[in-house]
Amino acid sequence: MITDTFKRTARHRLMMGAGAVSMLLLGCTPATETAAPETASAAEIHERLLTLDTHLDTPVHFGRNGWSMADAHDYATDASQVDLPRMEQGGLDGGFFVIYTPQGELTSAGYAEARAMATQRQREILEMAAANAERLELAYTADDALRIASEGKVFAFQSIENSWPLGEDIGALQSFYDNGVRMAGPVHSRDNQFADSTTGDGRWGGLSPAGRELVAEMNRLGIVVDGSHASDAAIDQLIELSATPIILSHSGPRWAMDHQRNLDDDGIRAVAASGGAICVNSVFLAPFLESEELTAIEERMDAEYRTASPTQQRALVRELRAAQGRAPQQEANFDAFMASLLHLLDVAGVDHVCMGADWDGGGGVIGMRDIAALPQVTARLLAAGYDEEDLQKIWSGNVLRLLRQAEDYAANH
Ligand SMILES: [Zn+2]
Repeated sequence: MITDTFKRTARHRLMMGAGAVSMLLLGCTPATETAAPETASAAEIHERLLTLDTHLDTPVHFGRNGWSMADAHDYATDASQVDLPRMEQGGLDGGFFVIYTPQGELTSAGYAEARAMATQRQREILEMAAANAERLELAYTADDALRIASEGKVFAFQSIENSWPLGEDIGALQSFYDNGVRMAGPVHSRDNQFADSTTGDGRWGGLSPAGRELVAEMNRLGIVVDGSHASDAAIDQLIELSATPIILSHSGPRWAMDHQRNLDDDGIRAVAASGGAICVNSVFLAPFLESEELTAIEERMDAEYRTASPTQQRALVRELRAAQGRAPQQEANFDAFMASLLHLLDVAGVDHVCMGADWDGGGGVIGMRDIAALPQVTARLLAAGYDEEDLQKIWSGNVLRLLRQAEDYAANH
């Protein structure tokens, strides 16, 4: 069922048309709209921007008992942060839906298990898209994103977080690509066969020989190389080896918090100097605070949440939220998130920053609990002096540029 609000947006976007969106992306506002930015409210500007997030872990919910992308969910009673109604509410036009595999053993049995998990996750993404075809469409190219948004629908790219499921067969990336993957990172929270993790032991000194081959294969296919979770040395090597600029789909500055998952300013400048982009994370802005009560509920969530009845799921989340109220899990708030984003903009420049808050993967801060809160990011950026052209780059233009570069390289090699 398409809501009235959704129809209004669809009409707005149809009137605007893909041409206008492309012109905004190129940085030349059509003459008829030149007077608008001075008078438009932040909400109006947010609504007409083409927006995307580069790291939506929402597929972790696709297999949950009774959960549907089409339904509206609430932070108080559901663990998800993204669904179609909230994308509409938060003015989020699309993004990269993640095929995430938690790191396991580097053995043939481990590889087989990982391949099965990743294949299943991609199947769930394709099924979600098919089930919501009136409101969402899979995107394979940068142009697809513009066209799909101009038709008033959500565009859904796919990405891989952790290439462990490829095992010893880099050629297996082809089938993930054929089914829609356009961004991929070699590694997650532990070292694997391709690369050192920034939270690993440093087995390879960066990329392994297979990791170097993987970068070449991503370039050949037209997949944007994602350095988030890779060690600092591996990121340097990805920049050096990749034929097209890399992305960090959900990373932040060490300036905000001294954590390995964040980059120091030299690292941020290196990504920018190579033409790449860093998409601001909302995690690792402050330490996570643990309590026995929270740990116990989280363990029950891990064991029961996916298969429990929807009523039981809501009860579990209510318990979780109550415990979080008694012992906050983190102190990071929206001000800290914005400070981190503004620091990235200062260091990298407006052509090299993008949005990747790790929604449904641990993201969200006090004052920005789910994607419904995204218009306030635009309002703050405008208040900080960034104009609509800058915002268009940050919200999607920079990412689509990297995607086009990957597409162009693949078409010519
Ligand atoms: Zn991650």
